Amino acid sequence: MKNFFKTFLMTELVKGLSLTFKNLFSRKVTIRYPEEKAPQSPRFRGLHALRRYPSGEERCIACKLCEAVCPALAITIESDVNKDGTRRTTRYDIDLFKCIYCGFCEEACPVDAIVETRIHEYHMETRGENIMNKDKLLAVGDRYEQMIAADKASDAPYR
Ligand code: SF4
Ligand code: SF4
Repeated sequence: MKNFFKTFLMTELVKGLSLTFKNLFSRKVTIRYPEEKAPQSPRFRGLHALRRYPSGEERCIACKLCEAVCPALAITIESDVNKDGTRRTTRYDIDLFKCIYCGFCEEACPVDAIVETRIHEYHMETRGENIMNKDKLLAVGDRYEQMIAADKASDAPYR
């Protein structure tokens, strides 16, 4: 009988609508993405980048610590020694499909070369685009260096 009256009087519907009306004029908690963006932490872990020094020299010294620490085995590095005796990567690949965005590579890097930027709005359209090679990583680093440096500086007091 109780269920019959509940259905007949549509009490569940009235309850639902009353909740809707209660919140109709309250402060909105949603945003109109992508026109509006939610605030982001400088520690946000998004797309990777390889950085350079202000002189243009690559920071990465091919120590392979990031490759060793990566729990997802997403990083592949090959290296060689330059004529001047410095060691540089000849191959630096990150498979974004394997990556779990843990940030361990960034933490392990002794020269702040590999970083995770705040960029999260990216996609892949063809097979193989999930592999971020050295050129692509350096290009991201070159383009967003200002933002990366500012984020690093704002996080520095907490380290
Ligand atoms: S963020 Fe984590 S999973 Fe992704 S490449 Fe770095 S260490 Fe590997
Ligand atoms: S990115 Fe950093 S940790 Fe990885 S090989 Fe280069 S210097 Fe070493």
